[in-house]
Amino acid sequence: MTGLYYHTKLNLFIQFRIFAPVEKLKEGSATVVKHTGSHYMVSSLPEWKLVSCVVKGKMRMKDLHTTNPIAVGDHVDYQLQEDGTGIISNIYPRKNYIIRKSTNLSRQAHIIAANIDVAFLIVTIDFPETKWAFMDRFLVTCEAYKVPVTIVLNKTDLLTEEYAEKVKYFKRIYSQAGYRILEVSCKTGYNTSLLKEELKGKICLFSGMSGVGKSSLINSLDSSLSLKTGKISDYHMQGKHTTTFYEIHPVENGGFIIDTPGIKGFGLIEMKPDELSHYFPEMLKRLDKCKFAPCTHTHEPECAVKEAVEKGYISTDRYVSYLGMLEEESKYR
Ligand code: GDP
Ligand code: ZN
Repeated sequence: MTGLYYHTKLNLFIQFRIFAPVEKLKEGSATVVKHTGSHYMVSSLPEWKLVSCVVKGKMRMKDLHTTNPIAVGDHVDYQLQEDGTGIISNIYPRKNYIIRKSTNLSRQAHIIAANIDVAFLIVTIDFPETKWAFMDRFLVTCEAYKVPVTIVLNKTDLLTEEYAEKVKYFKRIYSQAGYRILEVSCKTGYNTSLLKEELKGKICLFSGMSGVGKSSLINSLDSSLSLKTGKISDYHMQGKHTTTFYEIHPVENGGFIIDTPGIKGFGLIEMKPDELSHYFPEMLKRLDKCKFAPCTHTHEPECAVKEAVEKGYISTDRYVSYLGMLEEESKYR
């Protein structure tokens, strides 16, 4: 039997050969860690030993709205072949996933990753400014697909008075909305070891606009990762070839990360207008106080959400974001 072994430090696939009696070959369960066209690399995490698998045409693909019915992070069963490769025979139901649509008009979506333990959304208030619309869209996607999210606020070393004010405002709005914010600085190393601790035993998605320091942050977690993520992939993400395949990388002190380079926005699919506010935690907890159900919190009288906005319990910025998304979604319906 031969197989592939992935050496993380050398960033190499090493082929190994084991002489095993055929009857020892058995079915295994593993997580898909990489997808390259026709092949899926799987490993029984947390063990990092890759088996290259294929899917046989006969396997039923129920999910026809996505371009990749098997995604990174999927738990699968496979049958090991004599040559050390595997055939995927089953996909387990997902606890969550994150998708993107190539355009707002497209019906088909691409699953970025499944079974994510936590999504880290890296943001900066200035240098560059992370647009709230981008942030809120990402957060809504996470809520809709049940992915726990932590906002990582980077570059906290930049401390002009004006910047500090903006940071304070940002923190107030998003903690009020119910989000956890972790302040870090790649430059000074502030809280990066805390982040490292949080990765342990988890599959984590890293996302953020370009320039926020995502590569620097990933590099501070494990310097061997900088070769595999970052600028090169950013470059490849440009232009038409947007069906780039995401992959799971092991981090040296434990845990796994999925980098999402070049992601400009996440598409929401098939969401009814009155459903959107369910994905704004601060609105969700007030829905039952609205007179009308369902309520879109726009024109309806005696709306608890609008009332909370007027009283300042829900931020105007978040509400404006909500209205923007509502309008955009209805445009493409
Ligand atoms: P990416 O595009 O999100 O991967 O961002 P990079 O990691 O390439 O970082 C963009 C720029 O921000 C680089 O010039 C980094 O040196 C800088 N940078 C990253 N983290 C910090 C930080 O915590 N503080 C400051 N002041 N600059 C940072
Ligand atoms: Zn309402």
